[in-house]
Amino acid sequence: MPKRRPDHVPARTCAVCRQSRPKREMTRIVRVAVGTIHRDDTGRMPGRGTYICTDPACRDSERSAAAVKRALGAEPAPGSLEFEEVPHATT
Ligand SMILES: [Zn+2]
Repeated sequence: MPKRRPDHVPARTCAVCRQSRPKREMTRIVRVAVGTIHRDDTGRMPGRGTYICTDPACRDSERSAAAVKRALGAEPAPGSLEFEEVPHATT
C-alpha cells in the first residue's frame, strides 16, 4: 500500500464557506506580526494565514472581511483584501 499519492495536492479550507479546496485555487490572507491584514499573493508571507476560495460569494467584501476577522482576530482594512477582479483589458 503506497504511503503517498503522487496526485495529492494540498488543500485548504475557505474561511467563508468552509469548503476544502486545492491550495492553489485559494487566496491566502495573512495577519502579519504588526497585526495588519494583507492579501498574500505569493503564499509566502510570514504570519497567521487563512484562505478564501474563488467563489464570488466568498469574495464579497463584507462576508470575506467578517470571515477574516473571525479567523485571524483582526479586522482587515478597507480594500486590503482587494478581491475585486481587475477587468481584462478591452482594447
Ligand atoms: Zn469559499
